[in-house]
Amino acid sequence: MFDSIICELQLHLNENKFYIKRDDLIPFSFGGNKVRKTKLYFDEIINNDYDYVITYGTSSSNHVRVVANFCAINKIACIIVMPNIGISISSNLLLTKMFGCTIVESDVSNVKEEINKSILMLKQRGYNPYFIEGGGHGLLGTKAYVLAYQEILSFETKNKIYFDYIFFASGTGTTQAGLIVGSIINNDHRMIMGISIARRNPAGTDIIKESVSDYLSHIGFSVPSSININFFDDYIVDGYLTTNPKILDEVKKLLIQEGIPLDPFYTGKAFWGMKEFLISNSIKNKNILFIHTGGTPLFFDNLKCE
Ligand SMILES: *Cc1c(COP(=O)(O)O)cnc(C)c1O
Repeated sequence: MFDSIICELQLHLNENKFYIKRDDLIPFSFGGNKVRKTKLYFDEIINNDYDYVITYGTSSSNHVRVVANFCAINKIACIIVMPNIGISISSNLLLTKMFGCTIVESDVSNVKEEINKSILMLKQRGYNPYFIEGGGHGLLGTKAYVLAYQEILSFETKNKIYFDYIFFASGTGTTQAGLIVGSIINNDHRMIMGISIARRNPAGTDIIKESVSDYLSHIGFSVPSSININFFDDYIVDGYLTTNPKILDEVKKLLIQEGIPLDPFYTGKAFWGMKEFLISNSIKNKNILFIHTGGTPLFFDNLKCE
C-alpha cells in the first residue's frame, strides 16, 4: 500500500550487512507504523459511515497524532482519552490539538470507563462512533504489517537478497504480530526480532501470540501448534519514555553517519538493542533488516546538543 524504501546502511558490525526499511518516510503525517495501521482503520470508518472516532494514548503518542490527522483530513470529529500522568507538552500533543481533537484526561485506572462513557454519550446524541484501540492494536493493525511483509518479500525477490533477521521496536506487539503472520503464511523461517520498548515477558509475548492466532483464524489459516515469538525485554533500560545516554549516543551516531533520525523511546532503543543483541550473541555474516517504525516528532522533542 505504501511500499516504503529499503536501503543499505554503512554499519560495520561482525561482518553483517544492514538494511533499513524507512516507514518513517511514508508520506503522511510524519510517517511511521501508525500511518499504515490507521489508514486501514479509516478505510473501514469511511466505508461504513462512522461519524466519530474515539481512541486513547499518552500525550507523546504517535498513534494519537496520526489518528487526529486522519480525522482532520476526513472532517470526522474525534475524542482522545489521555491518561493524566506525565502529560508533557510534546510535538505530538501540539499537533493533536492543532488537528482539533477533543482531549479527555483520565486517571490511568479509569481509561476504559472514560472510553465507554464517551461512546455511550455519542450514541445517545445520535452519532455512530468508531473506537480504535490504543496503538492501533487489533486485526487491521496486524494486517498493516502482513502487507508490509509482502513489500519486504518483493524487495528480496527483486534484489536477490534474503534477510536473515528483521529487527524493530515492539510496543503493543501489533507490528510484530503482522510480520510473524507474514512469515507463517509464506512459510518463511527467518528471525522476526521485536525489541520491547516497555512491556515485559511473559505478558509481551502472550499478547503477540494471541494477535497472531486471532489473525490467522480470522483469515481461515490453520494456527500452528507452536508459534515462535522473539520478543526481547532486555533492552528496556530505564523504562518507557525515559532517555538514556547510551541510546541518545546511538541516535546521534546514526544521524551523523546516515542522516537518519531515530527517537530515544522507540526506534533508537530498538536500534541500540539490536546492536547489543548481535554483539552478545556473536551473530555474524547475516543480512539484517531494521524497520524504522517512525516517531519523528519524538526525535525533535529529544534533540539535545552538548
Ligand atoms: C507505536 C510504535 C511502535 C510499536 O508498534 P506496535 O505495533 O505497538 O508494537 C514502534 N515504533 C514507533 C515509532 C511507534 O510509534
